[in-house]
Formats: sequence, C-alpha cells, structure tokens
Amino acid sequence: MLDRLGFAAIAATDPSRVAVLDADGTSTSYGELARRVDRLSHAFAARGLGPGDTVAAVLPNRRAYYEVRLATGQSGLYFTPIGHHLTTAEIAYVVADSEARLVVADRTLTGTVGAALDEIGFGPGGRIAVDGAPGWTDYEQLLAGQPDGPLPQPRAGEVMGYTSGTTGRPKAVRKPLPDGPPRFSQHVLDFMARLDIRPGREVHLAAAPLYHAAPGTFSAVALALGHTVVLAERPTPEEWLRLVEQHRVSVTFTVPTTLQRLVRLPAAVRGGHDTSSLRSVVHAGAPCPPEVKRQAIELLGPVLTEFYGATEGSATALTSAEWLTKPGSVGYPLPGTRVRVLDDDGRDVPTGEAGTVHFSLPTPFEYFKAPAKTASAMHDGLFTAGDIGHLDDDGWLFLHDRRTDLVISGGVNLYPAEIEGVLAAHPAVADAAVIGVPDPEWGQRAVAVVQPEPGVPAGSALADQLVAHCRTALAGYKVPRTIEFTDELPRTASGKLLRRELRDARRAPAPDQAPPT
Ligand code: ATP
Repeated sequence: MLDRLGFAAIAATDPSRVAVLDADGTSTSYGELARRVDRLSHAFAARGLGPGDTVAAVLPNRRAYYEVRLATGQSGLYFTPIGHHLTTAEIAYVVADSEARLVVADRTLTGTVGAALDEIGFGPGGRIAVDGAPGWTDYEQLLAGQPDGPLPQPRAGEVMGYTSGTTGRPKAVRKPLPDGPPRFSQHVLDFMARLDIRPGREVHLAAAPLYHAAPGTFSAVALALGHTVVLAERPTPEEWLRLVEQHRVSVTFTVPTTLQRLVRLPAAVRGGHDTSSLRSVVHAGAPCPPEVKRQAIELLGPVLTEFYGATEGSATALTSAEWLTKPGSVGYPLPGTRVRVLDDDGRDVPTGEAGTVHFSLPTPFEYFKAPAKTASAMHDGLFTAGDIGHLDDDGWLFLHDRRTDLVISGGVNLYPAEIEGVLAAHPAVADAAVIGVPDPEWGQRAVAVVQPEPGVPAGSALADQLVAHCRTALAGYKVPRTIEFTDELPRTASGKLLRRELRDARRAPAPDQAPPT
C-alpha cells in the first residue's frame, strides 16, 4: 500500500491530475512533474553528483522548488533550501557551510545570490538560474538536454535544512541517507493522520515560505499524497481567504502571525468568504496566543491543527477539538514518540512542573560539522530544542518558553510567551514581545515591546491601558513595568519572534561608551 503512494506512483496511475498550480496560473500535472523531475535527476548525475552531495536552492514559492526537492530525493543527494530574504553574507555562510556543489536560484535573486557566491569563490559552473540569467546555466536548457524516464538506480535523498537561528547561528540538521530507493515512512503517514491529512484529492495551499522546514515539508508530503498544491507568496489575510474560497482549499500550513491578522480583519471582510472547504489548517513554529486561537477556531471552524517540533523532528500534535478541552496545550505525543520533561540533572520532573522538554526522534541526526552541538542537544537518546514546558496528568504537553528567553527576575521565572499572549489579546496591539533586561536590583526585569495596530497612537496613555489590561489577566509580579513601542517587531518569515535581536539592541553600548577601535 505504501509503495503505491508518492508522486511518481500518482504520475503513473493518474498523470493528468494537477500537481502544482503556480501563482502565475501555470498548471503542472503529475505526469509532467514526474517527467521534469526525472530529467533534473539525470542532469544531476551528468554533472557528476553522487550520494551524499548537496544541492542548494534559493527560490520563491514556485514549481522549481518541488522539482529540485524531488529530484535530489531520488538521487541520493542532500537538498538545502535557503531563505531568499537572507542577506548576501547569510547566503554565503549557508552555501559554504553546506558544501553545496550546485546552487539553483530564481532569476530575480541571482544578483544577491551571485554576490554571495562570488564572496566564497563558488565557480560559475555550479550556478543554475530558473528563467536564466547572464553567467548562469539556464534551468530549462539543463532539463531539455536530458533523457526521459527514471534513473536506473534511484536512491533516497534527504533534506539538510538549517534551523531558524532563533537562539544563535543557524545549524544544518543532517540525517543519514536511507539505503535503497525513496520510500514513504509510516511515521510521516501517522503524523499526517494526527493532523487529519490523508491521501486523496485534497487541495493544499502553500502560502508560507517553502524554504522553512514545515511549509516545505508539508506541501512536499501533499504531493506524495496526491494533493494539488496551490502556490502563493505571502498573501495578505484577505488574499488568503480569497485563495481558500477560489481553490476550495482543504489543507494548509500557517503561522500564528497570519491567524492573528485573520481574526483582526473587519467583520465584513472576515465573514465574506466561503472557507467551508477547509479541513486542516496546521500551525506551528511559534506560540499562538490562546485568545487568537480561540477566535481563529470561531472564524474558520474546528479545523485548526497544531504540532510542536523543530527542524530536527516533531514531538506532539493536536486537533481543535482536543485543544478546546486542553486550551494552551501543544499536543499529545505522536505515535511512537516519547516525550519527557527533565530537570537540569536529567531527572523527570513531577507532572505539572516545568522542566526542559525532551523527545525521541524517528531518525537520528547530527548538526553538520558541529559534533559538540549535537551532543549537547541529546540526553539519553532524547533530543531537546531547549524549550521549557510541562506535561499534565493526562500526558498533554504545554510549552512555556525557550530556555534562552526565560526572564529570571528576583529569582522568579517569567515566561515571555505567557505575557505576550495577554498583550496580544488587547485590540490596540498588533504584536508584542517581552524580553529580560539587566536590572541592578532584580537581576533582570521584563520589558514589553509593543507594536500598536495601525492608526493607534503609541504613548503613555496606551502604556497605562496595557498595564491595566495585564493586571486583569496576570499575577502582579508578571505585569511588565516598562512598555516600549516600536513600528515593527522582528519576526522571521515563519513567524518566529527574534527576541535575541531586541535584547542585543538594548545591550549595545551607547555611542559615547563604544570601545576604542
Ligand atoms: P535555532 O535552533 O537555530 O535557534 P530554531 O530552533 O528556532 O532555531 P526551528 O527548528 O525552526 O528553529 O524552530 C523550533 C522551535 O519553534 C521550537 O523549539 C519551539 O520553540 C518553536 N515551536 C515549534 N512549534 C511550536 C508550537 N506549536 N508552539 C510554540 N512554539 C513552537
């Protein structure tokens, strides 16, 4: 049964089914996609790429992303997606660190990517441009010169993705290459089933950036399940609703920031679209304030599904119905996954008490070229991303925060995500961050940095309102004493709040205190 899944099997049995619908309206059938992926695989082999080599791609949300991902996946290669919003230096770092032999870039990005490749002396022979660019090999010409038909000996490849770098420099997560041809793992099927995602004729909207682990993987799995993937590039909330209605979208991956923007739309806009086709709106990657989630379930129906995990692997999942009985939880362990909450000495903490969340992974991994980091993320065969949380009596997991984001004020732990969730529920707040800053008396104190909704004036009147609002929902010691305002909080495209940047900005020495150069 499992052998019959996968995009190649669908291409063989139902070649005219639409696999990918690009934002410009280009439609690609499963048959055509398989033909193009086979040709690209032959091109990789002709370039001398073999098992264990890496191909990197800097692409917006378009068909070529899946072609490179699927071709590497059947050629025994590692696939490294790179964010197109990254700077030249960041792209140069990832290409060099991943030891990529080929870099596929969209024509519109060849300026930045080319500058990054020049910086590290990456030769012109390994540069491939989708839609062509001077000095780059044209992607279509590369495919045109290749034979049709599958590789004589297909071999499973792997994605070597980089973590978001929320806690430091991004790390490459490398898993060993499986032996033999690509196969669909039971673990992935079980995981999808927990999120109510099944094989069949579904429509998957891929609207979050594909270079991030979750949106890239969810939509690639959609192609293995026979779904039609509709591509969009960061639609506004209104466009998102329109796309759902227009394409009768049933499955999608999103981030809490998008949910927050959806529920804040004027009622007439919010309610003016038919979203009844939705069955599973998956979100993960950052805490979703409970009030936002409640309102999103009201708006879209009980179709919100959530999981907790990291680039290294996933741990828990839950449906809307489960969340409504366990509000705030990030789910119950996935089938076959062990979740433990440990203290600093590696002992299980009692139920209900906070500790560091550890979980088992179906596949071992290493941080590429960083064995010490791998060792420090593993304890007793379990992985930790450094998140703090607790398990309840029934075994459901609740997250508090990242260990590095914890604010310890006068010896008491403050969890920024909890305070941010309360601030975000205030109608004048578009986004909120809470960070710890050094304090001579308390060691640290919590500072809230608030992005007001457009048109809401920042100032002491709003700060007073927000403090009063926090007092209604939080114990006194958790109420931020200082509220600052900003035009826009730093978040990654996957919705992760970069508290590290806010802390660093507040730690930077004033110009007159800068050390002599
Ligand atoms: P780095 O390790 O480089 O700092 P990162 O860990 O932020 O990067 P990812 O692997 O992309 O990069 O993100 C994983 C993190 O996202 C988790 O450790 C957790 O903090 C957060 N996260 C994931 N799912 C959820 C969820 N459902 N609710 C709250 N936070 C989540």
